[in-house]
Amino acid sequence: MIEQYIRDVPDFPKPGILFKDITPLLQDPKGLEAAVSGLAATVDPSSYDIVCGIESRGFIFGTALAHHVGKGFIPIRKPGKLPWKTASESYELEYGTDTIEIHIDATEGANRVLMVDDLLATGGTMAAALKLVRRIGGTPVACSFVIELGFLPGREKLGDIPVHSLLTV
Ligand code: AMP
Repeated sequence: MIEQYIRDVPDFPKPGILFKDITPLLQDPKGLEAAVSGLAATVDPSSYDIVCGIESRGFIFGTALAHHVGKGFIPIRKPGKLPWKTASESYELEYGTDTIEIHIDATEGANRVLMVDDLLATGGTMAAALKLVRRIGGTPVACSFVIELGFLPGREKLGDIPVHSLLTV
């Protein structure tokens, strides 16, 4: 169901990468509905208090899911974007490093966090996001992705936490 709405774009953003374009999924009401209700079905909403999404495609699915299940939403952003006090975490990329940030009070009053992103590749981004949430006192309960690149060991980088994906390629 989800698969038919994912467009493969070779060599984007650089040679050798097969980019999984989720814009056709967002564009079609049936696709968007399948993604949001699929994410809602993977983890029991009574097991978490709030949804956390990673910039920027994690914002789209995370916020839609949060609204669907009647919860709030926490953004994890690229450096320098969040206006209040932040915690930050850097992680290794193939070449160089990247950094993500969260507001230090993001989990106050809503401790159990469902982590959401569009795609799990190497797991570096989500592993850093898990560290951030834990550092500010939150408890991540599970990670949910729309797509998982099954040929990469992304899951292994996330430790013991349950990991769910709607589509494994
Ligand atoms: P990683 O940290 O390697 O798990 O990469 C995850 C992040 O990079 C996610 O936020 C994805 O949106 C993005 N990403 C990595 N690989 C791809 C890909 N092949 N197609 C689309 N997005 C990707």
